[in-house]
Amino acid sequence: MQRIRRNLDEIFNRIAGAAARSNRNPDDIILVAITKFHEVDELEILKSCGITIFGESRVQEAKTKVGNIEGITWHLVGHLQTNKAKDAARMFDFIHSIDSIRVAEELNRRCDSENKIMPICLEVNVSGEEAKWGLNPNETPEVIKRVIKLPHIKIEGLMTMAPFVDDPETVRPVFLGLRELRDKINDSGIAEIHHLSMGMTQDYEVAIEEGATMLRIGSAIFA
Ligand SMILES: *Cc1c(COP(=O)(O)O)cnc(C)c1O
Repeated sequence: MQRIRRNLDEIFNRIAGAAARSNRNPDDIILVAITKFHEVDELEILKSCGITIFGESRVQEAKTKVGNIEGITWHLVGHLQTNKAKDAARMFDFIHSIDSIRVAEELNRRCDSENKIMPICLEVNVSGEEAKWGLNPNETPEVIKRVIKLPHIKIEGLMTMAPFVDDPETVRPVFLGLRELRDKINDSGIAEIHHLSMGMTQDYEVAIEEGATMLRIGSAIFA
């Protein structure tokens, strides 16, 4: 309890610091607490500290938690397979990691059955690492043109994961790249998107300086 509270204090201090350095309002930055690997009892502690937006990376793991805690908004942040779209449509309130037209179409179909409109981010592989999920930045505008037509999906923004490095300064261009892509999409008039889901434990301060609106932080909370 004390530990999680202390960790959160530190995180919110750092968020405030990074926001101040970049002339941003910290209230414009949403913390998504990544709860993968942690059980419901720990999540209850997190909730008692005032955190109510939880992110899970796997649909299967989330099944053991969603429904066992009241009053939580659940985000999916990990790769979604089409065969899990039905469960995802039912369980989640926001999906950060849509990375193909095919999975968007399947999710749209499942959200239609659930009678809901799912807010999403499209995941973009800005760094170009082989092992990463995500759209190529160049193909992203075309994908948006297709996905924006799906009535049960609402594109709220873009998401990216930076490479793991020792010095977070190294990955600043990745975050800058996602912001520039968002601005280009908005300027070209094909969509109006706001969110930049970027920044994890190792690099969230740099991400804030480059415009992150949603942070996905796990380890720093439970450390
Ligand atoms: C695990 C995970 C995070 C959180 O990573 P930490 O380094 O623990 O903060 C963020 N985003 C995604 C997609 C993840 O899988």
